[in-house]
Amino acid sequence: MSRPETGANASSWVAASRRDEALLRAPNTRPAEALSQGSGRGQRTCAGGGRRGSFGLQQPEGTGIGEPPLSFKLKNDCVGAVIGRGGSNIKEIQSSTYTKIQIIRGYPEAEVRILGTKAMQSKAKTAIDDLVKKQEEYNTEPKFDVAAVQLSDGKDTIKDVSGEQKLIDWDKFRENILKWNEKKWADLPPVKKNFYIESEKTSSMSQEQVDNWRKENYNIICDDLKDGEKRPLPNPTCNFEDAFHCYPEVMRNLQKAGFQKPTPIQSQAWPIILQGIDLIGVAQTGTGKTLSYLMPGFIHIDSQPVARNGPGMLVLTPTRELALQVDAECSEHSYRGLKSVCIYGGGDRDGQIKDLLKGVDIIIATPGRLHDLQMNNFVYLKSITYLVLDEADKMLDMGFEPQIMKILLDVRPDRQTVMTSATWPYAVRRLAQSYLKEPMIVYIGTLDLVAVSTVTQNIIVTTEDEKRSHIQAFIESMSPKDKVIIFVSRKAV
Ligand code: AMP
Repeated sequence: MSRPETGANASSWVAASRRDEALLRAPNTRPAEALSQGSGRGQRTCAGGGRRGSFGLQQPEGTGIGEPPLSFKLKNDCVGAVIGRGGSNIKEIQSSTYTKIQIIRGYPEAEVRILGTKAMQSKAKTAIDDLVKKQEEYNTEPKFDVAAVQLSDGKDTIKDVSGEQKLIDWDKFRENILKWNEKKWADLPPVKKNFYIESEKTSSMSQEQVDNWRKENYNIICDDLKDGEKRPLPNPTCNFEDAFHCYPEVMRNLQKAGFQKPTPIQSQAWPIILQGIDLIGVAQTGTGKTLSYLMPGFIHIDSQPVARNGPGMLVLTPTRELALQVDAECSEHSYRGLKSVCIYGGGDRDGQIKDLLKGVDIIIATPGRLHDLQMNNFVYLKSITYLVLDEADKMLDMGFEPQIMKILLDVRPDRQTVMTSATWPYAVRRLAQSYLKEPMIVYIGTLDLVAVSTVTQNIIVTTEDEKRSHIQAFIESMSPKDKVIIFVSRKAV
């Protein structure tokens, strides 16, 4: 057990392992005393040495020594939300504002004291006010009694708080859900979705020309999945001007990239997405699918009638590699200074949180890490109006469905959604049915998985022991200019 620090080194006293309690102390006690009233495990995140913040960050000159603390009251039911899980919120605020924050238990309210420069005190207070606002919003949302959904004996009955068996009123339950949803999404600004003006050239295409063009471009197949009366399928945009003649900056970016013409998926996806229709693109990596959703996405989030107070686009990808690739495409074709951030498991979590707190327009993320940050209130998703589920089949294969489900609970239902997938099995169709509204589907070639006919494939069935010698023999048989790609399970191999 380590002893609580005293004096200057005790100035940052966020206890790491005893969650909220270690941050609370009785009124009129000094910080060091507060710690000694904690769990007694001597938890300390302060790096000591005077100039290091609670994340071990070097502080700037002028740390506000001698500056009186900024004190204000905090409702007791907001204390936990301000501190965050394991002190995560308060640590983050301290490290990003170079302040020390004390929360002192009191009745009827706790007291917050912020030590630091005047500017940083005010920045830290704003961050705390935001957390309080979020918590107050949450507190006023109607809640369901958890007991109400725990069936006691498999029948439609529940035990109420007094232990009495009661029939579940499902109608009331559904009504509550509707009310709760209405309240959750009330007060959001309207979403504008249609940004498409068909070019003369595109609108003058005959049906025969459209059919021939689709056939010649990897046999594009396009369908409207809306129930009831079908909408007309838009003609493909055969060159960049046809899709983006109203958006010169997009045109400039495409010219700068040196691209000659849209890829088949882009030609058919752009006029659909730009009209504000949800889209399922069944396309493999390498078909240009990323730009097929990024370009209309840039226009969508940049052209909303009401300014956003958070990110506008969210791209969920199955792997860190794909997330980084999408982020690279975002930066390469960057539109009007829109800022993107890449959030993935195994990456620097604190750095990702800092990037998010600085403010971003586009989040590209793997579901696991994003859900972690969502649960800890580091990411605001209610402002998202353009959602992409990239490589949905792979996300399902990797078991991300629960995280996707939870992430999407915080994304407004009237957003525009684009989903890409290399395959179209039942699980992907089910996902599409849950999260897309009246989508159109564009797929290239056949939906059956077949081997590429232009490549000769030799299958060698071998044992683990002989595998290396086969590879060795194969490599030795190559001429100096031949190339080979070897797929292995781990980098170490
Ligand atoms: P993706 O299928 O999104 O992984 O894209 C594969 C590659 O194609 C990326 O390097 C893109 O930059 C590139 N690409 C995207 N659109 C085009 C285009 N219209 N013409 C040529 N290359 C493109």
